[in-house]
Amino acid sequence: MRLSRYFLPVLRETPAEAQIASHRLMLRAGMIKQAGSGIYSWLPLGYRVLRNIERIVHEEQQRAGHIPMLMPTLQSADLWRESGRYDAYGKELLRIRDRHGRDMLYGPTNEELITDIFRAHVFSYKDLPLTLYHIQWKFRDEIRPRFGVMRGREFLMKDGYNFDISKEAALHSYNRHLVSYLRTYERMGLQAIPMRAESGPIGGDTTHEFLVLAETGESGVFYDSAITDLTFGDRAVDYDNVTQCKAILDEFTSRYARTDETHDEQAFLQVPEGRRRVARAIEVGQIFYFGTKYARAMGATVQTADGDNVPVHMGSHGIGVSRLLGAIIEANHDDRGIIWPESLTPFHAGIVNLRQGDDETDAACEALYAALRAKGLDPLYDDRGERAGAKFATMDMIGLPWRITVGPRGVARGVVELTHRRTGKSEDLPAPAAARRLADLYRPGQLNERD
Ligand code: ATP
Ligand code: MG
Repeated sequence: MRLSRYFLPVLRETPAEAQIASHRLMLRAGMIKQAGSGIYSWLPLGYRVLRNIERIVHEEQQRAGHIPMLMPTLQSADLWRESGRYDAYGKELLRIRDRHGRDMLYGPTNEELITDIFRAHVFSYKDLPLTLYHIQWKFRDEIRPRFGVMRGREFLMKDGYNFDISKEAALHSYNRHLVSYLRTYERMGLQAIPMRAESGPIGGDTTHEFLVLAETGESGVFYDSAITDLTFGDRAVDYDNVTQCKAILDEFTSRYARTDETHDEQAFLQVPEGRRRVARAIEVGQIFYFGTKYARAMGATVQTADGDNVPVHMGSHGIGVSRLLGAIIEANHDDRGIIWPESLTPFHAGIVNLRQGDDETDAACEALYAALRAKGLDPLYDDRGERAGAKFATMDMIGLPWRITVGPRGVARGVVELTHRRTGKSEDLPAPAAARRLADLYRPGQLNERD
């Protein structure tokens, strides 16, 4: 992409309404624009990152055997009356009436709709286990939307639903989700700690939240610091293997780690004093096993091998896709701007032309731009007639992990400068070597789609 032809409405001034770094930087880097309280338009740069997050979520869901689909944002109130949540959900539920006077709602979550689909089509244990998921916009009429996309009213969520014949089978689905979530967040360069939590209006008592430590987080957490030494890495997981998933769950959940709602001071005191931590964190996901609550209320039963009809066991599992952008920026920025992890960056590298209009420098930039694209990389070429300082400031703010600077002096010597955003380290090398270095560095799975 050539910056002169892109739409990147960078702001020079820090917007007064933004209280935390991620909100400030998303506005300044031209990623989002507020459309209403807690409602945002995703401008091209923000949209690219959002799609990269979605891509990782889809890949990890499908690796775990979960099946993608898409349900609508608007739902019929009648389904929610069946489950009893139409009245129970309270003011966060956005209620709408259509021209025929029918009560509708903008879905804050989808347990009812998915249970309705299930009961219409699945009748036998032979069709289980089944896990369906989608990535769709949700609406919750939050009393105090704030921190940009972190607590919006309209937000993007991955929500998945498992259907199993027994509690035992459903608990395996729960463990499988926990394992796949660990891997999902780690691929985004985030440490998201599973913590024992409360279930809220969804119901049930088996639930973990995934929390990213951050001073600006809205959740208070208590944990054993030994937990932060754990990494998922690239271990091979067989998601059908009950023993293996349980072992990984135990490894990641056996230490003390709880949100303030489930905190138990006596149990916390058992953690060696030097490892006790009290901190703030951002909730980026939650998994639930709630048994037969919705199946009973809505008549979703299946026939067992013995011919009995039993309510299906269910769980639901959510990832805050749009909130993740805020959480990732909170964890990855400095005073000059964002620093994207390579797995999510909107462009693989920036090319800065130090003397736009100089024939040889322009030609060197064009050749480099073509060489990167030929390797499947997606560079952002700053070909504007701006000062070098302004170009550097823009690149630093939008946070591309690598910058290649091309100027007349380097061109005369046959080199470009490759700079690493996170460490600030620079190296002069011939342009083809820089292109090769970047192509090696981005694994094929990290090559983003082209617009
Ligand atoms: P919170 O406690 O932050 O209000 P929640 O527990 O009500 O969230 P869940 O029902 O668990 O939310 O939804 C799954 C995920 O969706 C959350 O873990 C969070 O990452 C995300 N999410 C929930 N509410 C919002 C919101 N208002 N804006 C952005 N993301 C949200
Ligand atoms: Mg939650």
